[in-house]
Amino acid sequence: MRIRAAPKRAEKRKNGMSECLFCKIIAGQIKGEKVFEDELTFAFKDINPQAPVHFLVSPKRHINTIAEASGEEMEHIFKAAQKLAEQFGTSDSGFRMVINQGHNAGQAVPHLHVHVLGGRPLAWPPG
Ligand code: AMP
Ligand code: ZN
Repeated sequence: MRIRAAPKRAEKRKNGMSECLFCKIIAGQIKGEKVFEDELTFAFKDINPQAPVHFLVSPKRHINTIAEASGEEMEHIFKAAQKLAEQFGTSDSGFRMVINQGHNAGQAVPHLHVHVLGGRPLAWPPG
């Protein structure tokens, strides 16, 4: 397997990595409550949970939009969410996966992440 060199500082600054909260959590520079990790993805509990089960699944690579994600990253993200939904006991009762993408969706953190929410009935449609 080819090992990709760690991004240089200038490159990190250019693509927003050095300022990115989730990159810092993934790198272990800021504490996060990790629930899963593989070579492409990192999942952690939301700091402000909106349901009894609420975690976030992110690509490890700093990308902001779904458009930038590779097929392999998407597969890993969905597989991680599937596995964790089962682990947290929401597979039978139901859960919701949400991506807030861009301004109209109220995206607060510009590093792609899938919310997985469950453990209570969830209203629809969203506000
Ligand atoms: P979004 O609006 O989809 O960008 O949501 C960002 C989410 O990140 C929110 O649900 C926040 O509660 C969550 N969040 C913000 N800071 C942290 C953090 N340090 N650790 C875990 N989750 C966080
Ligand atoms: Zn990032």
